[in-house]
Amino acid sequence: MKKYDYDLFTIGGGSGGVRASRFAFQYGAKVGLAEKSALGGTCVNLGCVPKKLMSYAAHYHSDFKDAAGFGWQLGESTFTWADLIANKDREIARLNEIYRETLAKAQVDVMEGHAVLQDAHTVRVDGKGFSKTITAKHILLATGGQPVRPDLPGSELGLVSDDFFHLPALPRHAIIAGAGYIAVEFASILNGLGCQVTLVHRGAQVLRGMDQDLGPFLTKEMEKKGVTFIANTQILNIRADGDGKDSLRHVHLKNGSTLTADCVIFATGRSANTAQLGLSAAGVITRENGSIVVDEHFKTNIDSIYAIGDVIDRVALTPVALAEGMVVASHLFDAGKRKLSYENIPTAVFSHPNVATVGLSEANARLRYPNITIFKSEFKALKHTMSHSTERTLMKLVVDTASDKVLGVHMVGADAGEVMQGMAIALQCGATKAQFDATLGIHPTVAEEFVTMRTPFSS
Ligand code: FAD
Ligand code: NDP
Repeated sequence: MKKYDYDLFTIGGGSGGVRASRFAFQYGAKVGLAEKSALGGTCVNLGCVPKKLMSYAAHYHSDFKDAAGFGWQLGESTFTWADLIANKDREIARLNEIYRETLAKAQVDVMEGHAVLQDAHTVRVDGKGFSKTITAKHILLATGGQPVRPDLPGSELGLVSDDFFHLPALPRHAIIAGAGYIAVEFASILNGLGCQVTLVHRGAQVLRGMDQDLGPFLTKEMEKKGVTFIANTQILNIRADGDGKDSLRHVHLKNGSTLTADCVIFATGRSANTAQLGLSAAGVITRENGSIVVDEHFKTNIDSIYAIGDVIDRVALTPVALAEGMVVASHLFDAGKRKLSYENIPTAVFSHPNVATVGLSEANARLRYPNITIFKSEFKALKHTMSHSTERTLMKLVVDTASDKVLGVHMVGADAGEVMQGMAIALQCGATKAQFDATLGIHPTVAEEFVTMRTPFSS
């Protein structure tokens, strides 16, 4: 029988790769892992964690304003970008260390280097001062994704999300291109910290794939906070005043207008990290967009090679990559006892205010069910009756009229992400509207509105 160095060799030490490696060890496998950058991957280093920390920072601006309504007189507040970035980096370095310790405890051999497939069972890892060739019975590709920079004249003058977390200073005026998660989250962070933000998007509304009410409601709320939205157009080209890094950017739009800012950020989607991975040497098939094709067990067309997370381009969220990691480890080393359903994946957009959702949008529910009942509530939260903020909250339930089953729960409002986690459990249990109604509220909260909506919404 052929002997390999490892039962499993994972390429990529991000959310999915680390979780799969740890679980494979728990199931008795000998595991190695290569990471070319920082342990923890996108989520820890250039995604969820730094973004959320910066989102907290941006919230203080409105919190200070709101405080006046409650009797607080605060002196003039000042914000120092360099302190935020340094403190955020310190926290991330701490998390990198925790990942290292966790992998060490799981006896995973970590190699800090770039890994390339040589064939179906062989990987070469090139790191600082070493080059190793490793064999493994199974290879797991968990290499994540990277931001896409549109192909247009002057696009190199724009930044992508990876750059955002280490900007040397807070921009005075930023133009953000895109209408997805990253565009509205970054717009909210910059706006909250005092930057003038213009968001340019090619479609009619932001957060296009979500329930139809969420994007327009969020736009109105963000406009009240001072963000400018320019819809139905695109950036044609970018020009800089000089050739210096700090010169102004002139952005020419398809609608004929020109905007000027000191920073342009592309938040125009991400693509799978599959270049320079040796996929063709091993014969692994990809889609046209570079993402890896896998079956229901996350197996590629090559029997010994598996792939999970952003690189397979299913649902690009950390909890999904984690779940896929656990499922693949279980499939390989624990008789496949773990399963994963892609139904009812809850998600939050950490814009100000938050957007959060689980289950079907109204439009998707109408495609799948003959009769849908909508419950909708829009109101000013108790807090803002005294803060003098004009922020409003939207809450919406999508219900199958025939079975009374709640199909979708949607919200725009403070802490919507926190509220939605509990709603996701209800949907996972197949809760009906009658069961929502039979649930007692927690008073006074915003969340209680989800169990007190009685009158169907008619447009
Ligand atoms: P990654 O975490 O990207 O890990 C892949 C790793 O592989 C990387 O560390 C990379 O360096 C390494 N690698 C690549 N190629 C090689 C190679 N050849 N050799 C060695 N190593 C290699 N999701 C949420 O759920 N909530 C959020 O709030 C959220 N916010 C986000 C904010 C931003 C700005 C971004 C960009 C993403 C955000 N996401 C969020 C998405 C989330 O970060 C990803 O879905 C998740 O990190 C995917 O995990 P992964 O394991 O597939 O890949
Ligand atoms: P999204 O896919 O969410 O949004 C991409 C946006 O870019 C869309 O609005 C799209 O427009 C627009 N776009 C694409 N190409 C172009 C182009 N050439 N010119 C102009 N606009 C363009 O991607 P993000 O980059 O925002 O985020 C990537 C993924 O990361 C998310 O989908 C999500 O899965 C994950 N993420 C999760 C977060 C969270 O959980 N809170 C936070 C951040 C990211 P259109 O709508 O017209 O297609």
